[in-house]
Order: sequence, then structure tokens, then C-alpha cells
Amino acid sequence: MEIACLDLEGVLVPEIWIKFSQKTGIAELRATTRDIPDYDVLMKMRLDILAKHNLGLREIQEVIATLQPLEGAHEFVNWLRERFQVVILSDTFYEFAGPLMAQLGYPTLLCHKLTVNEAGRVTDYNLRQVNPKRQAIVALKSLYYRTIACGDSYNDTTMLAEADAGILFHAPENVIREFPQFPAVHTYDDLKLEFIKASHRKLVL
Ligand SMILES: [Mg+2]
Repeated sequence: MEIACLDLEGVLVPEIWIKFSQKTGIAELRATTRDIPDYDVLMKMRLDILAKHNLGLREIQEVIATLQPLEGAHEFVNWLRERFQVVILSDTFYEFAGPLMAQLGYPTLLCHKLTVNEAGRVTDYNLRQVNPKRQAIVALKSLYYRTIACGDSYNDTTMLAEADAGILFHAPENVIREFPQFPAVHTYDDLKLEFIKASHRKLVL
């Protein structure tokens, strides 16, 4: 049995924090782990900014509901689900991803969770586990699934390395250069071909 594991942001949907920052006009929310490498510091800062702007979960979800998956993403997910079991492995939060997952037909998603108080304010965040993407692959392999993983960035590379086959999609040049062992493609049509190549079954487009 084969299972396809996909990163979410950058692969199927835009970077949620960056889009959210554009939609709300709150420039400070553009910061990513490239600017602030300590994820804990970055997330605490984000939650402080949300509180400062009086953005509770409802307001946040209303903004995120105006975002759309990348063009062709839904069709690609449907194509993939007809041929593989599909799991999305993401570092986002269920509460943020919800409106976008609805537009993708609710594929299975493993990600993190927010803590929201009675007033609807986001007070904390809860990571599913340490190194969650790689650990999910380890777990699926323990169920004797053959895994094919696809991601776009540094936080995907341990997942790609652990999987039976790894594919870079929409990755920036530096990531492609640093990880030449993974095929790198930029369109959903080419990504379909890479999944077909990586599969041990005789699949067709
Ligand atoms: Mg990504």
C-alpha cells in the first residue's frame, strides 16, 4: 500500500501568515522563521500582535475564509486521492486551516492546535509533537505503508528524507540546490508525473 503525504502551505495553499498579514494590513505578521528562528518566540509575538489588534479566532477565520487554495490545487488533490490514500502534514493550526480545507474537500490533515479562551481570544498554541512531519512518516512506515512525500521548504526536508520517495514542489532555489537528491518540480502536471514515477504501481495520468 502506498500513501501520499503533502505539505500544505506553499504546496496547496498560500503561506497563511503572509496572506493574513496582507489582508489585515498588519505588516509585523509577515515575520517567519527566517526572520525569527526561534519558533516559540515567533509564535508568542504573533499571538501578542493578534491580541493587540483585537483579533479573536472568529475575526481571524473570517479573514482566512477570504483566502483561496493555489490555482489547480483542488483538482490536484482530487487526482491524487483517486490514486493514493492522502494525508496532509502541516505546521499550521486546525483553526487556521479550516476555511481552506473546506475548499479542498477536507482531506485528512495532521497539524497543530490553538488554545482559545471563552472570549474567543487565542491564548496559546499546542504543537502536536516534536518533528511532527518526520514522525508521521515513521508512524506510517510502521503500518507498512510505502510513503511518497512532497513539500516546498526546509521544514519538509526531514519528512522527504524519511519517506520512501521525496519530491520538492514550488521550492526556492536555495532549497533545490541544497537537496539535489529530491526531484524538484513547479507545476501540478509535473508533480503528478513525479508521483507516478515514485509509485511502485502502474499508474496513469
Ligand atoms: Mg510549506
